[in-house]
Amino acid sequence: SKVRIYTLAKDLGVENHKMLEILDGLGVSYKSVSSTIEEDTVELIKEILAEEAAAAAAQPAQAETSSQRATPAPSSGAQAPSAPPSSQGAGAQTAVTEAPAATATADEVPHRAPVVTIMGHVDHGKTSLLDYIRKTKVAAKEAGGITQHVGAFEAKTSKGRIVFIDTPGHEAFTTIRARGANVADIAIIVIAADDSLMPQTREAIAHAQAAKVPMIVAINKIDLPQADPEKVKTDLTQLNLVPEEYGGDLVVVPVSAKTGEGVEDLLEYISLTAEIEDLRADPKGKFSGVIIEGKVDKQAGVLATVMVQEGTLHVGDFLVVGENYGKIKAMTDSAGARIKEAGPSTPVQILGFSTVPASGEKVQSAKNEHAAREVIATRVDVRRDEENARNRRRGPRTLEDIMGPVGELRTVNLILRADTQGSVEAIQGILARKESEDININVMLAGIGAPTEGDVLLASTAGAQILCFSVTPSAGVAKVAESKGVEIKAYRIIYEMIDEVDRLIKGNIEPVF
Ligand code: GDP
Repeated sequence: SKVRIYTLAKDLGVENHKMLEILDGLGVSYKSVSSTIEEDTVELIKEILAEEAAAAAAQPAQAETSSQRATPAPSSGAQAPSAPPSSQGAGAQTAVTEAPAATATADEVPHRAPVVTIMGHVDHGKTSLLDYIRKTKVAAKEAGGITQHVGAFEAKTSKGRIVFIDTPGHEAFTTIRARGANVADIAIIVIAADDSLMPQTREAIAHAQAAKVPMIVAINKIDLPQADPEKVKTDLTQLNLVPEEYGGDLVVVPVSAKTGEGVEDLLEYISLTAEIEDLRADPKGKFSGVIIEGKVDKQAGVLATVMVQEGTLHVGDFLVVGENYGKIKAMTDSAGARIKEAGPSTPVQILGFSTVPASGEKVQSAKNEHAAREVIATRVDVRRDEENARNRRRGPRTLEDIMGPVGELRTVNLILRADTQGSVEAIQGILARKESEDININVMLAGIGAPTEGDVLLASTAGAQILCFSVTPSAGVAKVAESKGVEIKAYRIIYEMIDEVDRLIKGNIEPVF
C-alpha cells in the first residue's frame, strides 16, 4: 500500500528533507512531503538508510554527522548549533565514499526561521489572524505591551521561531518582489469559510505561484454558523489546487482568528513546510538584507526595518541601500527591545539612514564609510550608462523581449481581465486551444474587473502582458504600467483580442526600433 512521505520519515526517524534527497537520488517524482510513494520505493529507502548507517559506523567522523541528522531539526534558526569547523567537515567528506557530499556541506550552514506572508481577499481575516498570533505568540517586553508596527514580527512557537510580515496583502508582497528581492518563504492564503474564493483570493494565489513560494491555505472564520469549509476546498480544486484530503498536495488548515481554533495547527504546518524547504543561512557569512519598510519618525528621524537574510548586522555597521548609505546608530528588534546584533531571518528596526529607503530595496554592508561611497559611485555610473543606452533605443518591446529567443519553447505570459466570469472562461477556453508544441500560453491570473496596480507589478516582474476585455485600466493604473514598461491592451470584441494573441504567437509583431 502507499504511504505518505512525511509519515514514513517520522516512522524511520529521519528528517523530511533527508527523505526527499533520497527520493531525488532514486529519481522518484513527488510534489511535496505529503505525496504518497509506493511500497517498493519504501523498501528501497529502507535499504539505502541501512547502507548509510553501516557506512557511517565504519567512518567515525561521518557517524557523528549522521546521528546529528537523525535528530529532529533544531527548534529555531537562531539557536541552531553553529557549523562544525570546516577542516573537520572537509575531512569527513573526503573520507566518505558512499554518503552524499552535498549533505555534509549543507550541514555546515545552520537552519534559519521561515518568513511568512499572509495574503487573501479583503475582510477574510488577514489582520485578525496576524493580531491573534501576535497577541498569543509574542512576549510583550514592556509594561503596556503595545509594540509599534515595524512591518514584521517574530512569533515564538513550540516548533521554533516564525517571522511574519506584518503588512498583509499581495501588493506589499509584489512591491518587494518587483525590486528583485524575495522575502517570504511561505505564503498563507486566508479564505473566509463563509465567502470562499473571491477575486483577491485568486490574485493572491497567482502572486504566490509567480513567486514560486509554497502556499498554505487557512480557511478562516470556521466559528461562524454559516461557515462552509468543504465548499472552499471544492472551489480550490477547480483552480487545480487539490487539498491533501482529496488526494492532492495542498495543505489546508481550518482556523478561527476569533476563537484561536486551529491556529496552533497552522503554526505547526508552517514549521513543517519550513523544514521541507530546508531553509538555511549563514550568520557568519557576508551580510545581505532587504528593506521591509521605511518611515520618518518625528522624534527619532528616519527609521527602516531591515530583514536580515544572510550574515549578521551589528550596531556601527555601514549599510548601502540603492544610492544611499548610513551607519547603524541603534537597532531594535520587532518587539521594541534594543539589540546590538541580529542574525538571519531577524527583522530589525534601524536608526541611521538619512533618506527613507523604499520597501523591497536590497541592503548590503560596507567595511567603512569610504567603501560605502565607492559602492555608491559605481552604482551611479552603471545607472547613467543604462539610462543612456535606454534613451538611444527607445520604443516598444519586441516579440523576443516578451517571449525569449526563437527556436525554444516559448512562453507567452498573460494576465487576463474581463467584465464577467463567463467572458474570462470563454477567453481561457480559446487560449487553451492555441497552445502548441513550441508555444506555451501561461495565464498567470484571470480576473474579473479592471486591472489593478498589483497586476502591473506582477506583469513587470514576470514579463507578462495584460489583456483586458470590456474593462479598462484606471488612469492611475495606466500610468504605473507606463512607468514600468508594462503593456495593457483593452478590447471590446473578443476576436480582436484573440487576434492580438495570434500575432504574439505567430511572431507577426513588427519589431520597432
Ligand atoms: P482583512 O481585511 O483580511 O485584514 O480582514 P480583518 O482581519 O479586518 O477581518 C474582517 C472582519 O472579519 C472583521 O470584522 C473581523 O472581526 C472579522 N473576522 C476575522 N476573522 C474572524 C473569525 O475567525 N471569525 C469571525 N467570526 N470573524 C472574523
